Amino acid sequence: MPQIPTTAGPRDVADLGKTLVHEHLLTAHEGIRFQWPHLVDPRAEHDDAVAQVRAAQGHGVTAICDPAVLDLARDVRLNLAVTEETGMPIVMATGIYGQHYTFLPHYFQTREPSAMIDCFVHDLTVGIQGTSTRAAFLKCAADEPGITPDVEKIHRAVAQASLQTGAPIMAHSRPASKTGLDQMRIFAEEGVDPAKIMVAHTGDTDDLDYIEELLQTGCTIGMDRYGLDIFLPNEQRNATLVALVQRGHADRMVLSQDACATLDWFPKEMVQMMAPNWNFTYIFETVMPQLLEAGVTQEQLDAMLETNVHRWLAGASAAGPGPRLRPAARPARPPAP
Ligand SMILES: [Zn+2]
Repeated sequence: MPQIPTTAGPRDVADLGKTLVHEHLLTAHEGIRFQWPHLVDPRAEHDDAVAQVRAAQGHGVTAICDPAVLDLARDVRLNLAVTEETGMPIVMATGIYGQHYTFLPHYFQTREPSAMIDCFVHDLTVGIQGTSTRAAFLKCAADEPGITPDVEKIHRAVAQASLQTGAPIMAHSRPASKTGLDQMRIFAEEGVDPAKIMVAHTGDTDDLDYIEELLQTGCTIGMDRYGLDIFLPNEQRNATLVALVQRGHADRMVLSQDACATLDWFPKEMVQMMAPNWNFTYIFETVMPQLLEAGVTQEQLDAMLETNVHRWLAGASAAGPGPRLRPAARPARPPAP
């Protein structure tokens, strides 16, 4: 059974149990923290992270994947301290988010892709930020600016690091401009097994044609921004998920919230106003009861928090390697308006 490195030491993948695949202990601008540390309250950040993790534990969560990387202020020591206090194993990432989803830092712009690949492989095989805690997966992002030259360079470097180490990839996407398809094309060109790839934030759209096209590539998709109604209201997220379950895709989806225990991108009050339900437990308190009501089974929901996440982390396909074409399922109800 594959072993997954976590902040609590390596774990057999199946022993991770109920896993939130996409939550952030901290999302911040690392340059601002370096230049003006008086703006940062590490104690409060620690306590907020502990509070969110404990709340998730109250719903039986036994592991969390934290996709913080360069540009998001990944801080393995914070995660280790939270694990120390709560016992929660946190699965760490390596990669580059991209400044404004557009640029690399000059450091990597002016160097060969191997400079990036070596950093990623270091985190995956040696440890993060001078610790022995290794990253378990790779992260990259494409958003509104699309596949800029630097974004493409990051994706190809992430793909190469995956090929070298076998690590799975989580790709932040923007369904509104269908970036997932471009991202999967790049990974395919580099030769990455699609079973290793999760296209995060696919649940931000109710465009079933786009999602079906994406699923044809063989990736896992993230229904992972519950609570962020500003991108797609909850009812539409649920209707889309239900339609995909009816089409036979329950084993291709993962559930999460992409919530941040601390987020410095906006003033705190603004986050509260924009996304009052955005936290580590919204899916358990609100979403899952609604999905059960709509006919999704407990077993299917469990798969979205366990089997499907573990399969992606282990880099194994649901039905052998390569894209899986499904027989036509019964026609799905269109998503509710
Ligand atoms: Zn995220």
